[in-house]
Amino acid sequence: MAYFSIGVDLGGTNLRVAAVDEQGAVLETIATGTAVARGRDTVIGEMCQAILALRDRFQQTAALVGVGIGVPGIIDMHTGMLRESPNLPGWGDYPVREEIERRLHTRIILENDANAAALGEFWMGAARDVPSMCMYTLGTGVGGGIVLDGHIWHGMTGMAGELGHNTVYPDGAPCGCGNVGCVEQYASATAIRRMAREAAGARESSTLGRALQADPHLSAQQIFRLAREGDAAAQGVFDRAGEALGIAVASCINALNLPMYVIGGGVSAAWEAFAPSMMKTIRARSFVYKATTPEDQTGQEGNATIITRALLGADAGLLGAARLPLMEQEHGGR
Ligand SMILES: [Zn+2]
Repeated sequence: MAYFSIGVDLGGTNLRVAAVDEQGAVLETIATGTAVARGRDTVIGEMCQAILALRDRFQQTAALVGVGIGVPGIIDMHTGMLRESPNLPGWGDYPVREEIERRLHTRIILENDANAAALGEFWMGAARDVPSMCMYTLGTGVGGGIVLDGHIWHGMTGMAGELGHNTVYPDGAPCGCGNVGCVEQYASATAIRRMAREAAGARESSTLGRALQADPHLSAQQIFRLAREGDAAAQGVFDRAGEALGIAVASCINALNLPMYVIGGGVSAAWEAFAPSMMKTIRARSFVYKATTPEDQTGQEGNATIITRALLGADAGLLGAARLPLMEQEHGGR
């Protein structure tokens, strides 16, 4: 009998649940519209309902191997509990995995959402054809995931891959993690908006300044649109984001020498605005990149280091989460 798996993405503002077959085809997605902010018990209740609905629909033709859940926080791999996360108030020190397993009587695997997204791009997206990769997810914050020889690298306690909190400017903007100058403070959607306000303050006559006066809640996407229309102040914001990301990625390349680095998340839609400064910075700051990727080649041949956009959008996290129980099955887990 064929197998299928269910992936859950708890990382965004809304809860999404998908049934995925062994080949990585999404059979069906349920977007519950449940705001994650509505609280733990509501979210877990609706999640279980959606999982059961998908199980009932597909279990005549395939066997469910388990459920993978991507969560925006740090997971204790041994206990299946979350550390208190600013995005998930009330979830800390609560036995999430145990509680859901008890309700559904199926295998549950929790994973950090950025790790799940990396695994999704590795399985079905931009990194399909490489053995190892690293992914930056540029969203509200900056997440990271490292896949080595097909497996998420968890480190000692499951905290590996926190790439958003590597320092790029020692005297930079303060970060929620306690450090200053983290790449998250320059390359996230939140940072784009902050830097746009700073830039507009310095150049009030710019189109960006006028746009921010009209709408103080201008989104990163709208700021990107202004950059594309030729506004120098808006473009400057993305140059800065690209430089910060370039510094971060260059360090990562020197440390890991992987064949591919994938940039995903909502802000990656602004690729054309930040990629030139990012690539220039990587070339200037990573001799490993320079040695593997001569200027005259596009990075698609031989042992070149490839830096590329993610391909799966919001489905990366869902697919990666669904992949987790399938991998366990393949490797003879329970
Ligand atoms: Zn930080």
